[in-house]
Amino acid sequence: MLKNIRIKALQDNYIWILQDRHKKCIIIDPGDAKKVINIIIKKKLVPKIILITHYHKDHIQGIKKLLIQYSNKKIYGPQFINKKYFFVTPCFSFTKLYLLKHIFIVLHTPGHTNHDISYFISPFLFCGDILFSGGCGKVLTGKYKDMFNSISLINFLPNNTKICSGHEYTLKNLLFSKKY
Ligand SMILES: [Zn+2]
Repeated sequence: MLKNIRIKALQDNYIWILQDRHKKCIIIDPGDAKKVINIIIKKKLVPKIILITHYHKDHIQGIKKLLIQYSNKKIYGPQFINKKYFFVTPCFSFTKLYLLKHIFIVLHTPGHTNHDISYFISPFLFCGDILFSGGCGKVLTGKYKDMFNSISLINFLPNNTKICSGHEYTLKNLLFSKKY
């Protein structure tokens, strides 16, 4: 099984690093390169892959620096034409990615934007800004119907699934629920 490391970054973001026993690693939504590089150095990791859930700045702005520091990394992300400064291999729903000898299933989970994707590798789901502890993500450029369908899709995953979100919103979400 891959070891899952959670990094707190920016104001309330989470960056996730999956590490195998040979110290190779996958970085998910690196919004802050410095935080990631510190962990890589501390744990002597070898970054191999970057996964992107959606193209909001706070999830991708560390990529440029990471590519300068560690070349030859492959990047996977949603199919979306954007002015990006890096090449992304587009992922479609239910694509299986074979990464570090593990199978990742890509789920199309739009709603926060029109192009969000999530990555499932049992027991972890990396779902960016779709689902948080205590609430779902904000519908920004996505559609409410899509958000509902995405949450329904996530609901089909096994009960032991660990939701690895893109932000820490637990307290805010619970206070909101209490208020309304
Ligand atoms: Zn976002």
